[in-house]
Amino acid sequence: MSSKKEPHISTEILPSSKEGLFRAAQILNNGGLVAFPTETVYGLGADATNSGAIERIYKAKGRPHNNPLIIHAYDTNVAKHFAKMDKQAAILAKSFWPGPLTLVLKQNTKVSIRISDRALSRLQTVAIRIPIHPVARRILSLCNNPIAAPSANISGKLSTTRFEDVLGNMFGKIDAIVDGGPCPIGLESTIAKIEDGIFSILRPGTITEEEIASKIGKKGHTRKILEKKITSPGQLKSHYRPETPIRLNITDPRDDELLLAFGPLPNGIKGLTLSEISDPDEAAMNLYSALADLDNLAKVTKSTSIAIHPIPRQGAGIAINDRLQRAAHKS
Ligand code: AMP
Ligand code: MG
Repeated sequence: MSSKKEPHISTEILPSSKEGLFRAAQILNNGGLVAFPTETVYGLGADATNSGAIERIYKAKGRPHNNPLIIHAYDTNVAKHFAKMDKQAAILAKSFWPGPLTLVLKQNTKVSIRISDRALSRLQTVAIRIPIHPVARRILSLCNNPIAAPSANISGKLSTTRFEDVLGNMFGKIDAIVDGGPCPIGLESTIAKIEDGIFSILRPGTITEEEIASKIGKKGHTRKILEKKITSPGQLKSHYRPETPIRLNITDPRDDELLLAFGPLPNGIKGLTLSEISDPDEAAMNLYSALADLDNLAKVTKSTSIAIHPIPRQGAGIAINDRLQRAAHKS
C-alpha cells in the first residue's frame, strides 16, 4: 500500500468508544496523526501548534505546502484565542457553529494560542471550523490545542466519508484511524471569508450562500469573482478525482460506461444511484463513497468511464456540482 521508499508506520485502529477516543487524543497531544470522522468528511488531524506534526500531515497526504489547513477548535471561545471575530463573524458563529461552516478570519496576533505557520501557508488569515460530530467533539475536548485537519485522503483524490476508504488511503502512513462509521453530511464544509464586512463563499457546501446572507443581511460575492484573488489550491479546478474518467450531465450512458444516477438506476444499466428519491442531501452523503465504489467496479468491469446524471443546482446540489466539475476537470 505504501511506496517502498517510505517507512511503514504502524497504524492503530481505534473504536469510537470512550477509551478509543481517549487514546486518539493522547496520540494527537503527543504530536501524532489521527484520522477521525466529522459530520462532513473524515479529517486527518494533528496538533495545530506543533510544526513537526503539521509537516507530517503534508507528507502523508502528498499535499502541496501552499495549501493551508483548516483549524478545528472545540468552541468559539477557543477560536477567539487565535482569530479576530468581527460582528459578522460572531453572528455566523452563533448561527452555524458547531456545524459544517468554516470561517476564514484574520489571525489574532496577540495570541495565547500560536498556530504553526506551516499550517497556514504564510497567509494572514486562518480558516476555522467547529465540528458538531460527537466523535470529533469528544476528541477536541480532550486535546490540549486546536487540531489542524484536512480531509483524510491522498491530495487530489476523493475525500473519504467511510472508515474503509480512510484505511485504503492512510493505513501505514499515520498513527491511528478512528472507526466512527459513515459521515452523515458527506461533503466538505462551506468555506466563507469575511472581509470588510462582506462575506464571500470560497467553497460551497451544504450551508448555502442564501442561508449565510439571511443571517448577516449582505449578499456574498460569487466564487468566480473571488477565484482571481485566491491563492490556495483548494480552489484548484482539478480536485477530488477518481482514477476512472468521469463525464457529467449524461442521461444516456454508453455500453462501456458505469452510471452514477440521481433517482432510480434505470433497468439494465450498470452503476449506482446517489439517491433513489432524488434527494440532494442524500446524494451529498453518498457522493464520495459511490464514486469510490464505482472507481473499483470500473477496474473490474474494464469500464472506460463513469457517466453521471445531471444533478439540479439546488441546496446541496450546488456543492455536489462544484465537486463533480473539479473531479471531471483534466489537469
Ligand atoms: P481540506 O484540505 O479538504 O480540508 O480543505 C481545506 C480548504 O480550506 C482548502 O481549500 C484550503 O485551501 C482552504 N483554506 C484553508 N485555510 C485558508 C485560508 N486562510 N484562506 C483561504 N482558504 C483556506
Ligand atoms: Mg481535501
